[in-house]
Amino acid sequence: MRVGIDIGGTTVKIGLVENKKIISSFEIKTKKDTLFKDIKDSIRKYDNIEFIGIGVPGAIKNNYIYRLPNIGIENVDLNKEFSEFNCKIGATNDANRAALGEAIYDNNVKSCYFITLGTGVGGGYIYDGKIVNGASSSAGEIGHTFIDPINNYKCTCGKCGCLETVSSATGIVRLFNDNKGKYKTSIDKENVTTKDIFDAAKEGDELSLYVVNFATRILGIAIANIAATVDPESIIIGGGVSKAGEFLLELVKKYYKEYAFYMQKDKKISLAKLGNSAGMLGARYIEV
Ligand code: ZN
Repeated sequence: MRVGIDIGGTTVKIGLVENKKIISSFEIKTKKDTLFKDIKDSIRKYDNIEFIGIGVPGAIKNNYIYRLPNIGIENVDLNKEFSEFNCKIGATNDANRAALGEAIYDNNVKSCYFITLGTGVGGGYIYDGKIVNGASSSAGEIGHTFIDPINNYKCTCGKCGCLETVSSATGIVRLFNDNKGKYKTSIDKENVTTKDIFDAAKEGDELSLYVVNFATRILGIAIANIAATVDPESIIIGGGVSKAGEFLLELVKKYYKEYAFYMQKDKKISLAKLGNSAGMLGARYIEV
């Protein structure tokens, strides 16, 4: 049996994979101080674990985690951490893994760029059915390209003005809170979510419309930059924010077209189809 573990900023999704199918899956909360203990405790009851595939939200190379900024974890050797299971460990950036799952699902496209909009913004580039890792194991880190000199918000990576600071779930909520008072809104609650903001924008809420237009314009620019750099056959948008569906997609496409190089204006941009299971499913395709 293979275990696919997708570590996210708020939950860890764990899938048991047999014969290339997820036979069962469950979630546990992401707790910084006990993260790996919790994961190990949750899978120890299973026999015959032959492979553990792990997707992490951050920098990783040779199964060694350098930094997971959204969780606050640094310097973890996963081979050591999971040594008690006596099996092969294969770990990659979670966005890469989801990218691989989505690319294969998307008619096995030759080249695909996957962007995930969650607590942070991740990205992965697939070429010829393989993850492009890059020389520093960080190819595809689109979330940390500088793109917003207007707000220039501090990012979890230590820089300012990254794509992640405005187009992630956290970024969208921050934009909303920061622009209260400048635009009218009917949302009157403390802990507003991206779903509240997108739902209100669909109804014409002025502040929410400002926020979603800003976040999707910035994302459209980022995608145009990706297209100009690697010109992939397909661009796929996933992660929690993508649950806003066609409304989000149409805005991103509109802004993409405005900023895209003229030969790339008809790029195929679509929403992820595997949903939350993409990260776990990626484990079934990957051999590390
Ligand atoms: Zn950053």
